[in-house]
Amino acid sequence: SARKALEKKGHLNAFISLKPIEEMFEEARLADLRVADQNEKSRIDGRLIAIKDNICTTGFPTTCASEMLRNYVSPYEATVVQNLRKAGAIIMGKTNMDEFGMGSHSIHSIFGAVSQPGPVGPSALSAGGSSGGSAVAVAASMCYAALGTDTGGSIRLPASYCGIVGFKPSYGMLSRWGVVAYANSLDTVGIMAQGVGRTRLVFEAINSHDPNDPTSLIPGTRERLLDRLGKNKKSKSLRIGIPQEYNIEELTPPVRTTWANMILHLQNRGHRVLPISLPHTRHALSAYYVLAPAEASSNLAKYDGVRYGHREEKDRSDNEEILFAPTRKSGLGSEVQRRIIMGAYALSSEAIDNYFIQAQKVRRLVRKDFDDVFIQPNWLVTDKDHSRESRIGGVDVIMAPTALSTAPLLDDVKSEGSPLDSYVNDVLTVPASLAGIPAISVPVMAKTEDGEWSLPVGIQIMAQYGDEATMFKAAGIFE
Ligand code: GLN
Repeated sequence: SARKALEKKGHLNAFISLKPIEEMFEEARLADLRVADQNEKSRIDGRLIAIKDNICTTGFPTTCASEMLRNYVSPYEATVVQNLRKAGAIIMGKTNMDEFGMGSHSIHSIFGAVSQPGPVGPSALSAGGSSGGSAVAVAASMCYAALGTDTGGSIRLPASYCGIVGFKPSYGMLSRWGVVAYANSLDTVGIMAQGVGRTRLVFEAINSHDPNDPTSLIPGTRERLLDRLGKNKKSKSLRIGIPQEYNIEELTPPVRTTWANMILHLQNRGHRVLPISLPHTRHALSAYYVLAPAEASSNLAKYDGVRYGHREEKDRSDNEEILFAPTRKSGLGSEVQRRIIMGAYALSSEAIDNYFIQAQKVRRLVRKDFDDVFIQPNWLVTDKDHSRESRIGGVDVIMAPTALSTAPLLDDVKSEGSPLDSYVNDVLTVPASLAGIPAISVPVMAKTEDGEWSLPVGIQIMAQYGDEATMFKAAGIFE
């Protein structure tokens, strides 16, 4: 049993399926030849990329870590994966996650929890979630980069816990075609890698309009955003906003200290740091946990055992309702069932006004908070430049922590009492999701009191809609 425990400890459980190693070698050999001939397909030609298991691939099953889709193989491939292949990248396998993207620690998976080896002692740490498998694969240098999805923080939180870069683009940048929907108005595909440079290379390789995704930004809008945003890029130094509402009581000391250190670091580099206010931040979390489950309850209604996926045979009967219920009961995990029930309630005639409609209003206010502080107006929704007044005191980017703490112990999060405890972990990431703006988490090593190195802390940079360029520029200062 000691051996078993050891094996277990060494097992990161990052992958659900993996390409046979000989095939990886063969693809890498072909890419090497192209590079030698100076004929490479792109700057990521021959690079190993891992894909979260809610993004459809034809070569591997796409399980969403759910019993419902345990054996499901998609007949087509997601656009982002096709784009990676065109760029010459090697799709190495599919990564473990929280079922359907619902969770913050990658523990809600039929394949077992993802685990991150701790720096001291035998205890494993939470990898964060829901893209925890992708985060661990990157952190352990198993791949060059990984794709994840971020609905309310599922790329940034695991990036923060695992000490890597995690980037969620503006909503509508990367195609969602072939990405299994959780909450479609919030879902984004994003990139996890060691370093901002790699993250950016992968983003550039796959960022394009996709006619198959109706929410994908069309070329005209992309050009307009570039044009309008580009006009304001004279100054070398940045104006960086520090939102006071993110300085909440629940921030743990290493996180608060690291945030403060980074403020000094940026000032020393000649950037201007300004206090800002995003007054509706407090309500963002509750709005998110109404909207995301509401959309999920609708998106997951198709997993009823009729068309595809898991079907409960035992209780099969001609009565559809009887077939649906046992199928969903055995095919979906408890967290997913909880979200569906919450969402169905929020949309019910008795609750819709007080929950769903209110949450939509809060969502608009959260976006307006951001529009009020950025120098750049939100060019997606306006073509008029800001009035002079609102530009004064405006900022290029916002800097805040990604998570309340460094990675907690895996055993502790597994035994957590109420699901609310884990929902709270998303408080610093959901505002950018509700607003649809780009955000990136960059790792900073936090020092302990006695000057020893401790665990990584994620610092998050947010920018105006479509302004990935300024976001990457600011994130680069940390490297
Ligand atoms: N933890 C959040 C949730 O469970 C975020 C998930 C995500 O971004 N996919 O909803």
